[in-house]
Amino acid sequence: MKIIDRIRNTDRFLSLEFFPPKEREQWPRFFGQVDRLAGLDPLFVSVTYGAGGTFQDNTLEIAADVHRRFGLETMAHLTCVGAKKKGIAEYLDRLRDAGINNILALRGDMPGGGGTDVWKEFRHASNLVEFVKEGWPEIGVATACYPDAHPESPSIDDDLRWTCHKFNAGSDFAVTQLFFDVRRYRDLVRRLESRGIRNPIVPGVLPVLNMQSLNRILALCGANIPLKLYLELQEANESGGDKAVRRKGIEIARRQIKELLELGAPGIHLYSLNNADVCLDILTDLPELDG
Ligand code: FAD
Repeated sequence: MKIIDRIRNTDRFLSLEFFPPKEREQWPRFFGQVDRLAGLDPLFVSVTYGAGGTFQDNTLEIAADVHRRFGLETMAHLTCVGAKKKGIAEYLDRLRDAGINNILALRGDMPGGGGTDVWKEFRHASNLVEFVKEGWPEIGVATACYPDAHPESPSIDDDLRWTCHKFNAGSDFAVTQLFFDVRRYRDLVRRLESRGIRNPIVPGVLPVLNMQSLNRILALCGANIPLKLYLELQEANESGGDKAVRRKGIEIARRQIKELLELGAPGIHLYSLNNADVCLDILTDLPELDG
């Protein structure tokens, strides 16, 4: 089933994002985490794709297993930078054969050095959306959007223009990049609405577990964090190290989720970090999210 049809029939939902563990010996532990989180009855789960298409078979195998073993509607992330149409077509067929009917269509990060040869046959995520819509109309397609604007974009307006373009190309809904200032999400939704886009924009929430990973992620994806929150986390780090940061990170994520739901977000996409304890700590006693 296309995820958009599930979203349309739901009030406010939870979805979870997993990443495929690189080493096979980590897979049993990973599936144990999924098993615990399946009890939350997420509307869908998604499985990330290695940068530059690395470990793409892991994405397919994990997505297929999660779908088959736990009965979860699963969306496979798929990047197109540097890919050829033939390879993407074969991959889409394999996904479909494995019962995966939804993808998150992404361009992917430019490999180090960039250069025009990496464009090959797809230049932007919208090209992948069009390709899938044309050849695999039974597959649901979502895309990414950026409350703090994509780091390559010269302006927020420019980024919005291309986000709209992805919807006009056929994207059913979008999942946002992580962000910490709820007002950025509200502004993004309003700006898209003023351009005629009313498709669901699902906010992605990332729990902060330690300062090193926060700093690395912020540098990688270009998201911003309000200084006040950063100082709260830093203070926690100075007084109690990683444990205190984890506690504070969970508190911040819970606050963010409450505010997003109050704003009318259609659901919450939680970056699970493959960590059931963290997700359960965040979601305990929060307003009910439908499956
Ligand atoms: P695009 O939509 O192509 O946008 C990239 C840039 O080009 C933006 O600045 C945009 O404004 C601009 N642009 C878009 N279309 C046009 C156009 N037609 N003409 C001119 N400019 C244009 N990466 C992975 O490798 N694996 C993953 O699993 C993964 N999962 C992600 C999940 C989410 C929810 C998000 C938000 C990101 C994820 N990423 C992942 C990261 C993503 O690949 C990067 O952010 C990448 O740099 C951009 O991908 P995109 O699909 O947004 O690209």
